[in-house]
Amino acid sequence: MKSVEIVKKLSSVGIKPKKSMGQNFLIDKNMAKKICGAVPFEEDLLIVEIGSGTGALSFTLAEKANELILIEKDADLASYLKKVLGGRARVISGDFLKLEPEEIFGPTGKKAVLIGNLPYYVSKRILRRAFELKEKLRACVFTLQREVAEKLTALPSSRDYGILSVLFGYCSESKIVARQSPDCFYPKPGVDSATVRIIFNTKLACGGLFSEKEFENLVKCSFRQRRKILLNNLKGFYELEGIDGLQELLRRRAQELSPGEFILMSERIKRK
Ligand code: SAM
Repeated sequence: MKSVEIVKKLSSVGIKPKKSMGQNFLIDKNMAKKICGAVPFEEDLLIVEIGSGTGALSFTLAEKANELILIEKDADLASYLKKVLGGRARVISGDFLKLEPEEIFGPTGKKAVLIGNLPYYVSKRILRRAFELKEKLRACVFTLQREVAEKLTALPSSRDYGILSVLFGYCSESKIVARQSPDCFYPKPGVDSATVRIIFNTKLACGGLFSEKEFENLVKCSFRQRRKILLNNLKGFYELEGIDGLQELLRRRAQELSPGEFILMSERIKRK
């Protein structure tokens, strides 16, 4: 689709792109196919699109999904989607961040895939929410600012490795599957973008001593100052004396530890 076509489509719906809602519409049809191609369309999965806009991805998703849910915050776009796709999808007019899990996933207990070219002003909050909902999810396919996508998929000891990489790294495998220049969207965003596919591990619980909340707190505290070794970042907050087998880890910097090593540490040390 060229930008003239999307301008026509938007004016037929009666809307102008709203910066406040992160509205940069995808106009590259090949890219839309590539993004949808990263979705695992298994029969027993719900496909949930966040921020469907004028349907750049939704029409392809409707052809392939067994059960499709479209969530759109802009009420005008939501009523347009109901008109053109209401027969093939359940359209929710609302803010993804304010919806309860039951409102999105319903009572079936089926696992879901979240997909979306995300509004960049809230992309980190949407990632955070997806992380909280991970037990209900098989996968996410998210288009994000390139910088955020690179942080999410970064490997230990690389420049971008940080809190996001560890949190998603412990519970999923994530990979960049497509990259977009601003020309793929109308209006053009000020940054490059990338699509990440996140596949959650089927076995999430680490058992025994593992507490996810403690793990998160430890990861955040470890990255307080990237240049410091862990011992110096943690000693004001955790009991670190006399714990066998951790001294070597504590002499390293947070960005050098794998998600597995963070789990090991969070099982062994306690808050002061
Ligand atoms: N999927 C469309 C596309 O690729 O052309 C639109 C993508 S645009 C980057 C983001 C969309 O998310 C917009 O349609 C916007 O109205 C919607 N949106 C913004 N905030 C939202 C929220 N909190 N919950 C659901 N949708 C939201």
